[in-house]
Amino acid sequence: MPPRLHQQYPLRGLNSFGVEARARWFCRVRSAEDLAALAADPRLGGLPRLVLGGGSNLLLTRDFDGLVIKVEVPGLRELGEAGDAWLVEVGAGENWHMTVERLLAMGRPGLENLALIPGSCGAAPVQNIGAYGLELAQRFDSLAAWDFASRRLVRMTAAECAFGYRDSLFKHALAGRRLILAVTLALPKRWRPVEGYADLARELKERDGARPDARAIFDAVVAIRRRKLPDPAVIGNAGSFFKNPVVSREAHQALMARYPSLVGYPQPGGCVKLAAGWLIEAVGLKGATLGRAGVSETQALVLVNRGGATGAEILAMAREVQERVAEAFGVWLEPEPVIV
Ligand SMILES: Cc1cc2nc3c(=O)[nH]c(=O)nc-3n(C[C@H](O)[C@H](O)[C@H](O)COP(=O)(O)OP(=O)(O)OC[C@H]3O[C@@H](n4cnc5c(N)ncnc54)[C@H](O)[C@@H]3O)c2cc1C
Repeated sequence: MPPRLHQQYPLRGLNSFGVEARARWFCRVRSAEDLAALAADPRLGGLPRLVLGGGSNLLLTRDFDGLVIKVEVPGLRELGEAGDAWLVEVGAGENWHMTVERLLAMGRPGLENLALIPGSCGAAPVQNIGAYGLELAQRFDSLAAWDFASRRLVRMTAAECAFGYRDSLFKHALAGRRLILAVTLALPKRWRPVEGYADLARELKERDGARPDARAIFDAVVAIRRRKLPDPAVIGNAGSFFKNPVVSREAHQALMARYPSLVGYPQPGGCVKLAAGWLIEAVGLKGATLGRAGVSETQALVLVNRGGATGAEILAMAREVQERVAEAFGVWLEPEPVIV
């Protein structure tokens, strides 16, 4: 059975900003066979495509005049071992957080620092999700993707995905051209805690975790995130809206001379990553409102939908933040979500 196609499909319930937008065409896919069937449909030829997971890392600024493909590929299976890792393949449509928890229960730790990140497993490589000192790339083996041009399945290694900080080729050259169907994770056989991140170390200390196990780290990460991040079910948002900008050592020193309390993290090679949240707070925009959009009161990096905001209003709020930060610090903040 080919996947069912819908026209003028409402997307409001399918994006975590809760923004109103419609897709000219919409369908749900569960397999490569579904994609092959879509490729044969003459009504869809040449239309722009948007691949959709949980909708927690995109901002829809208008109706989508093309085909939105919601990925619902299920499955989780152990593939065996390779060197010092267990290989586990997960379907792109599986919920990320539930997969992290399920693997933990199966005795396959390694992803606990990435607990409670919303969205699907298939989207995890797209921006190389990261949190609390760990990035997906550190637990990634390969992925299987559908290539729309050749209508074939392809396998991609980490090098071919070109992972960077909240980045991969899927945000650039491969956007809308390849759809991730499954991700093979490489989980360490000899697990060691990743507990260097300051917030996490503090939380673990308060919980008396002298030698925390993976479950203790999972619980600590979940607790911190529940405290710090606005819940999209309560107020529309897409998590951090801006990446932390990286500046040269000289630029950092010049800024430090003017703003001694500036927060920055030294990077390999001498550059410094600045805390974007600190910059936004410093220009007085934490808790700001513009139309029906705003900056969260609890976390300056998060833009929110205060109720009924359009994507364009949220984009205008983002622009205001970018301009004010650029004026004060000479740094242009890059958005983290994909703007459609
Ligand atoms: C409260 C909150 C907290 C967050 N915290 C973090 C965090 O700590 N760290 C972090 O990295 N991110 C975080 N995010 C962002 C987001 O959760 C992640 O980026 C997540 O991986 C997005 O998954 P998704 O399925 O919702 O993707 P979507 O929003 O549906 O899609 C995001 C992008 O990926 C593409 N895409 C989705 N699925 C596929 C696929 N199968 N194949 C090809 N392309 C695809 C889409 O086309 C789009 O470009 C947070 C978001 C929220 C709302």
